[in-house]
Amino acid sequence: MNHQIYWHITADMPSAEKLTPIPERVEVAVIGGGYTGLSAARTLAKQGVKVAVLEAETLGWGASSRNGGMVLTGLKLPMQTVIKRYGRDLAKCLFQYSLDSIDTVEQIIKEENIDCGFARTGHLLAANKSKHFDALKEEVEFMEKEFNHKVRLVSRKDQREEIGTDLYHGALVDEVSGGLNPAQFVAGLARAAEKAGALTCARARVHSLGRDETRFVIETERGPVLAQSVLVATSGYTGNVVKKLQKKIIPIGSFIIATEKLPNELAQQLSPKNRMIFDYKHYLNYFRLWNKRMIFGGRAAFFPENENTIARSAEILRREMIEVYPQLKDVKVEYAWGGTLDFAFDMMTHVGEIDGIYYSLGYAGHGVAMGTHLGKTLAEAMIQGNLREHPFASFTFPGAPLGLYDGRPWFLPFAGAWHRILDWIE
Ligand SMILES: Cc1cc2nc3c(=O)[nH]c(=O)nc-3n(C[C@H](O)[C@H](O)[C@H](O)COP(=O)(O)OP(=O)(O)OC[C@H]3O[C@@H](n4cnc5c(N)ncnc54)[C@H](O)[C@@H]3O)c2cc1C
Repeated sequence: MNHQIYWHITADMPSAEKLTPIPERVEVAVIGGGYTGLSAARTLAKQGVKVAVLEAETLGWGASSRNGGMVLTGLKLPMQTVIKRYGRDLAKCLFQYSLDSIDTVEQIIKEENIDCGFARTGHLLAANKSKHFDALKEEVEFMEKEFNHKVRLVSRKDQREEIGTDLYHGALVDEVSGGLNPAQFVAGLARAAEKAGALTCARARVHSLGRDETRFVIETERGPVLAQSVLVATSGYTGNVVKKLQKKIIPIGSFIIATEKLPNELAQQLSPKNRMIFDYKHYLNYFRLWNKRMIFGGRAAFFPENENTIARSAEILRREMIEVYPQLKDVKVEYAWGGTLDFAFDMMTHVGEIDGIYYSLGYAGHGVAMGTHLGKTLAEAMIQGNLREHPFASFTFPGAPLGLYDGRPWFLPFAGAWHRILDWIE
């Protein structure tokens, strides 16, 4: 089995062979070259703003080329919780942003002619227990009543029309979601940002960020840049360049395996409608087909990716995959890899400004569409000077309870165990 990101071999990923020189000064410096940073840079450059993306590794290196490629409606938190916390009006606005985010992805792909297999094949949320299915019944009514958003139930009896397993107790289908090849998408986005006039600088890790009265002084590994504004788009890889942001983000590992190519008939049986599938557990699994391979992910090890966590996760994921699909028992797993998610302490995504530094962070595994859309809308708000009106900037971005966190997630083993316990109790 290769510990390699399968998506990378399917895409023409930006390399670091010919490095764009670090500019002396720009109007906006974007730190991080994933969906958020590249989408923001594309929008800014299209409006004539002089912008540079500073990426520590190569463009798209982070979560944006490692994820499941699920382009999903909604937020990480259930919308019931979002209404309770923020009220109906704001919740409606936030949910609408999630729908708009899919339109943004679709529009960029069309405008920029990005070949990444985007299709609105819908998502399937599978009930692990019968009481989950009862909750899904309520969800169907709730989404229609509160958000005028139509989702539908699939009973256990009819489940085989959607998924080739009897493991689940029924499911919910949302036809608005879609899927794509994440690496092909981020590579296309990088080219689109460049075409719009953005400078995209790989191997430009930012070591520190200072400021004098009028501008930021950014020290990168290849020399300094002066910038009027800075946008942080570093997601789960947020380090200590802006300590206040690092303290608000918990980096959590997520892992994926990809099988060998399956025979047509088997692939068709596993997911007849090519849905983006995930289950109801706290410690959830997410999976889908791509090019007849089963791409099967989960938060198997909780800690960010390294050789050990990838190897351990690959074993766990293979076991879990066979539990769902016993048909895959003798199928070879060819690739395994990991990436890092960014969780805020309230599990919400946050856009805003801290000490004059703009940011969009906290996607909690929902960043393919949201990162792209929030990068774009944050850039628009920077140009128009109306960030306060951005719905994702209108609620507090909390830090750790009692301030018990300095950016090193010492509590992850407990959090992992806690999720397993919740799944077990429920
Ligand atoms: C395994 C996995 C599966 C996922 N599946 C899905 C899914 O199916 N659907 C979905 O919606 N979301 C999914 N996600 C989440 C989604 O991939 C992310 O939310 C999204 O890619 C975040 O994009 P971004 O541009 O904000 O950050 P990233 O793509 O992570 O980019 C951040 C970049 O910042 C750079 N950086 C960090 N520090 C510095 C520095 N000091 N100087 C310069 N550069 C720096 C990093 O090198 C990195 O490239 C998944 C994530 C993972 C890891």
